[in-house]
Amino acid sequence: MSSMHPIRREPHHVEVTGRRWISEHVFEITLTRPEGFSFRAGQSIRVRCMETERAYCLVSSPEDPFLALCILHLPQGKVSSYLAAIEPGSVIEFTGPHGDFAFIPSTREKVFVATGIGIVPFVSMVRSGVRDFMMVHGVSSPQELYYEDFFEKNGVKFVQCVPQASFQEGGKQSPFPGSVTDYLARELPRGEYDFYLSGDEAMVLDVYSVVDDLFLGSRVYSEIFFSRSMGQWQNRKPPVAAEGSGPTGRVR
Ligand SMILES: Cc1cc2nc3c(=O)[nH]c(=O)nc-3n(C[C@H](O)[C@H](O)[C@H](O)COP(=O)(O)OP(=O)(O)OC[C@H]3O[C@@H](n4cnc5c(N)ncnc54)[C@H](O)[C@@H]3O)c2cc1C
Repeated sequence: MSSMHPIRREPHHVEVTGRRWISEHVFEITLTRPEGFSFRAGQSIRVRCMETERAYCLVSSPEDPFLALCILHLPQGKVSSYLAAIEPGSVIEFTGPHGDFAFIPSTREKVFVATGIGIVPFVSMVRSGVRDFMMVHGVSSPQELYYEDFFEKNGVKFVQCVPQASFQEGGKQSPFPGSVTDYLARELPRGEYDFYLSGDEAMVLDVYSVVDDLFLGSRVYSEIFFSRSMGQWQNRKPPVAAEGSGPTGRVR
């Protein structure tokens, strides 16, 4: 595996160049790209404001001349609310790139699994040219299915998982009526895969269990955005034993 780009300790200062809402609660924000700043698709930056900082994965491609973030606006959230209201021309401070969640080529079939806004690193991976994977996206309502067209346009098999109880008319196609773990357990043919997981901690831990039970020999890479038990997760890794090689890969 090639090494990650080194973390620059001094913060960068960049200008906000635009903001675009892609669903009722999710927006993309574009930033100028500091000279010499490089990253791998899947990595994040830490935005500093109001004496705190929050991690956000880059949604742009490493080749783009600008940087872009995609953010879920939490009405009670300190930083996401600040960024949801920020005006073009404002300057924000960040450090990075951070993290080691990145695509690692292999001969196995790849299954990317995201809940909610956890889909962001996979968008960057597609923008950087990664193909030949299945995308399984779990959301609580069809309104949260942003980037559906993007994945389909790029020829990625896209499975939407929406619990039946919250399904409403209006979706383009029938989603799988259950969680992403239900989908993997019931629909994915048994075999050895590379699973890439991104989203909330509960999903990541559930998928680890399903892989342990049903997909032995598979490798799992994960990025946790949020832990309900601990509030802000801040880049911690799931509390499971690591046996495999690679930065975040576990052979199950
Ligand atoms: C490596 C990494 C990458 C991340 N990438 C992204 C990204 O690309 N896009 C993105 O939108 N977020 C991302 N996050 C989450 C982000 O760092 C913040 O946690 C999130 O924006 C909330 O911050 P806030 O200051 O607005 O809310 P806070 O003020 O921290 O929290 C307000 C309330 O909301 C709860 N809360 C916090 N996060 C969530 C959540 N996700 N779902 C439900 N409730 C929550 C808190 O427990 C608290 O009760 C990432 C996190 C990590 C660790």
